[in-house]
Amino acid sequence: MAKRVYEVWKGSNKFFLGGRLIFGPDARSLLITLLLIIVPVIIFCVFVARHLRHEFSPYNVGYAIFAVAILFAIHVLVLLLLTSVRDPGIVPRNAHPPEEEFRYDTSASVEIGGRQTPSLQFPRTKEVMVNGVAVRVKYCDTCMLYRPPRCSHCSICNNCVERFDHHCPWVGQCIGLRNYRYFFYFVSSATLLCIYVFAMSALYIKILMDDHHGTVWKAMKESPASVILMAYCFISLWFVGGLTGFHLYLISTNQTTYENFRYRTDNRVNVYDRGCLNNFLEVFATKVKPSRNNFRAFAREEVPRASLPTTREVEVEDMGEDRRAKVEDDLDIGGDLLKISQRHNIEDIEADIRSRGSDVIHNNSSEADSVLGSDRRAPTVLGTQVGEGEVRAGKLPQRFLE
Ligand SMILES: [Zn+2]
Ligand SMILES: [Zn+2]
Repeated sequence: MAKRVYEVWKGSNKFFLGGRLIFGPDARSLLITLLLIIVPVIIFCVFVARHLRHEFSPYNVGYAIFAVAILFAIHVLVLLLLTSVRDPGIVPRNAHPPEEEFRYDTSASVEIGGRQTPSLQFPRTKEVMVNGVAVRVKYCDTCMLYRPPRCSHCSICNNCVERFDHHCPWVGQCIGLRNYRYFFYFVSSATLLCIYVFAMSALYIKILMDDHHGTVWKAMKESPASVILMAYCFISLWFVGGLTGFHLYLISTNQTTYENFRYRTDNRVNVYDRGCLNNFLEVFATKVKPSRNNFRAFAREEVPRASLPTTREVEVEDMGEDRRAKVEDDLDIGGDLLKISQRHNIEDIEADIRSRGSDVIHNNSSEADSVLGSDRRAPTVLGTQVGEGEVRAGKLPQRFLE
């Protein structure tokens, strides 16, 4: 039976409800976060709000204290789930390295069948223009793609994530382009919930003091739950409140956590900074980009090996200009790269890379290059057919496309 994308997913994500919900591999930690929110709110309702209710009974204000706590807790939980169950902005992996970037490297030739053949190489970095400034983007060996600007490979989820902020262990998900807004709402709402519970617990202590004309110690003894909640909220406030402040700063300057930590000492110009107001609008007032993954779609099946042409040399040599032009017209370059790669058996390279451990991020360039260089077929086909002068990005795919 045909498998769905989430069933053959190469990242470390966990899927639920038939691929409708996507989590990071550490989704279990989300349960701890849920408990850290739910348990204090229950304690607050049972031991503090229930008693406070009587203090304000004439105006039903007491019930409002209850209602606000419960509704606000639900609001925080929904934001937490919105952050953690959605695709954070995963860039779909390529099935093969990008042919359009292939170059010959004559200096690093490999010996095939007793003759020297230049090895296939492609640049490890590329420059793209962002707001008129050249930004260097890196090639990801695991995902086999040039990462878009601000994209980074999450070592925990094993995916390239757009506008990667960080991997949040509390949420059990990457924070990236598609869930950063919800993450910020979650953290800032959790801060407000902390302040609310702290304030109401303090109010209850104050009321107990006034009622019994006692000291603060007596009141605290009478409601230890309030004391525990105040201490808990105080500690949590440092964490979520600090995080809210930090992210307000990041948003105002249009930085990600990753960029802030990585380039802190570089003093480089932030090409994404469009002014404080625009930076805020970019995060909160733009439409969330649709996911680039359809986890429930059926995965493309591999073309059986038997149907693959065994030799391509004759075909390529016979080919005239007309046919090349036609092929160019007929083929959608992006959509057909998969087929091309299958003809060239480049999927072997992918299998090879994977078998060497796909959960390791390959930072050094030699890994994929050596895999490519050692591939039996790809360099031979190119080496015999393409003249030295023509081996440039943009030229090569034409040859490749037949
Ligand atoms: Zn990647
Ligand atoms: Zn992650």
